Amino acid sequence: MDTATALLVDLRQAPDSVRGLPRGRASGRYSCLACGQALELCGPRDHADFTARFRHTRNEIDRCPAGPEHLARVRAAVADAQSLAEHLVAAAPGVRIQAAVTATGAPEVIPVLALRLEAPSGVGVIHLPHGDLSDDQADRILAGGDTVTRQWVLFDRHDGAHYRAAGQVQVRTRRQDQRIDKISPTSGQRRLAQAQLAVAWRDNGTLLLPFGGHPITYPPRAGEDWSGSAASWQRDWKISQPRPADGAAWWGLLPLPLRALAAPALLGAAVTAMADLEAAQSGREAYRRGKARERYAQQQTRLVPARPQQLALPLPADTATSPDSTISAADQIPQLSTQTPAAAGLAPDPGPAAAPESRPRRWRRWRRLLARLRLR
Ligand SMILES: [Zn+2]
Repeated sequence: MDTATALLVDLRQAPDSVRGLPRGRASGRYSCLACGQALELCGPRDHADFTARFRHTRNEIDRCPAGPEHLARVRAAVADAQSLAEHLVAAAPGVRIQAAVTATGAPEVIPVLALRLEAPSGVGVIHLPHGDLSDDQADRILAGGDTVTRQWVLFDRHDGAHYRAAGQVQVRTRRQDQRIDKISPTSGQRRLAQAQLAVAWRDNGTLLLPFGGHPITYPPRAGEDWSGSAASWQRDWKISQPRPADGAAWWGLLPLPLRALAAPALLGAAVTAMADLEAAQSGREAYRRGKARERYAQQQTRLVPARPQQLALPLPADTATSPDSTISAADQIPQLSTQTPAAAGLAPDPGPAAAPESRPRRWRRWRRLLARLRLR
């Protein structure tokens, strides 16, 4: 790498790229990406027969002291950055892309490479971590930001250090039912997402943009009955967007074409999809509260016909069962505006009204027992 510009100098890909560079050690300007040693640039500037090259030493046989495994991983990272650059240039021909280095690390850490994009719509940098991202490398990414450049940190869906799968969540947006992959972000990924840069994943030709998932329990209101089979409906999740907020329990990933990295106009689809998810949650809450009110009304007419004016105390939240965070398809409605009786008819029956008293009573007995056990 050329430390003066932080650009990657690859003589195999672009032998002419060294034409304008000073020869020799140039005050330690060049360093090896694999071992970090200063390099010497050899070869005359204008000599068609002589290929310029970098050397670690003046020994007869020049060897990089990095281990073969590390060397192979660094080479793979460079090849990967170049193939992403080719993909983006093919998808958005007006864009000029240069490969650069964001952060080198300790000898065993793979450097974070970057693609610098110059497009008519503006400039951008795509940081490409490989393997574990060290705190120091994350610091360097965060330190490099400015207000003009759109910064991306692009993780790899197929890199075990980048992607910790956490199941799926089924959602229904304005357009269609979708199963969305969920992940447990690493502490480094959480930290980057709080800064003013975009964290995303790539999965071959797909870009995955994260939103935050926050489990919630709807606080009961007067006139609602969340007991019995309705208890699981009290538990839901809400979104934080356009970036995951601090404290999100999981992140969901929305797919976009990978070329959106070089064509920011395509990112609008993710903004719309996240707004849809937010609207769908408001719709679910309104629908479920409606069901809880219906259930309450049924209880009143069936169980206490003689005293219709009696107020029921809202059920404590901790008597709810613990459903998983995946929302079933039947449990969804698309929008507030589509809550017609027909749509409501598709939803599962909240269950017979006579059953609900048994569960809270049983729970209270269990909780008394548990409290006694803890005291011993
Ligand atoms: Zn080296």
